[in-house]
Amino acid sequence: MTDVPPLRIAPVSDADRDDLSALLIETVAANGSVGFMHPLPIADADAFWSQALASAARDERIILGAWQGERLAGTGTLVLAMAPSQPHRAELTKVMTAQSARGSGVGAALIAAIEQVARGHGKSLLTLDAAVIEGATTFYRRLGYRSAGDIPDYAYKPLGGLGATRIFWKSLDATMGAPGIGNPRVGDEAWMRRALELAERAVAEDDEIPVGAIVVSPEGEVIGEGWNRNIAEHDPSAHAEIVAMRRAGQALDNHRLVGCTLYVTLEPCAMCAMAAVHARIARVVYGANDSKTGAAGSVFDLLADPRHNHRVEVTGGVLADEAGTRLTNYFRAKRGKPPV
Ligand SMILES: [Zn+2]
Repeated sequence: MTDVPPLRIAPVSDADRDDLSALLIETVAANGSVGFMHPLPIADADAFWSQALASAARDERIILGAWQGERLAGTGTLVLAMAPSQPHRAELTKVMTAQSARGSGVGAALIAAIEQVARGHGKSLLTLDAAVIEGATTFYRRLGYRSAGDIPDYAYKPLGGLGATRIFWKSLDATMGAPGIGNPRVGDEAWMRRALELAERAVAEDDEIPVGAIVVSPEGEVIGEGWNRNIAEHDPSAHAEIVAMRRAGQALDNHRLVGCTLYVTLEPCAMCAMAAVHARIARVVYGANDSKTGAAGSVFDLLADPRHNHRVEVTGGVLADEAGTRLTNYFRAKRGKPPV
């Protein structure tokens, strides 16, 4: 057991400037997209924070710090000063977590604190942009942010090369509803175990990629099951989700699966996500993220796209490790390697 001192989150002061500069330089050196190129001279970092602190003193922005004991583990800025037509909006920027504090919940705690501050200032809409990198989308999606799209070649990354940026937004107004993201519910794990059993069958019976899916009716009955059958059926569309939704449609004598939940062991691809939208699936629960083709936020964000008439609630990460291990071992076996 390591002893992690409790996290303290509070507005920063001029006395914190050196620590803030060190964190900024560390972030830039690790290729974090916060507006600067590597190597960032300390004088430039100091100048940036001096200006930012002066802006905070004028109440144009609020800069929060997160400390673990004496150490500054993270920071995030809420820009309050907006155009006269946007008094309800604030912008999140310069969100940074020290490398040594990664994975300890500092980032999520900071965002939660910033949202509290925003509410206190009467803000109901938060916007931000983040470089399109693995992890960032998952992070913000888990906190209830929705992506509005990507802008290619938006900025140079600190270590070189143009990178895309993704625009996120979150309504703090409860009456607007919490679109897109939902927390796991009782029973999700049990249903996901059924889907994982189907993923096993994909390998055992068809030697296909281990992905399993089930469709559960609003009454709590399994009305469709499927696993990957692309190779066996010579069918490019025979993903587990499609197979399960096809069977569910047949079971209901209806192409709409209203109120149903789709459980799938791997984040759906674009095809399957759109099929779920067309079918009016109420909720998609998935296991492992798919950083190459995932369409529930990892690469595309189709299920939560506000341009659809139909909203699908999404919960990710249920039994993700088990689903991911099965996939890893399948591909390892294909290369003649032992399972992990
Ligand atoms: Zn698919």
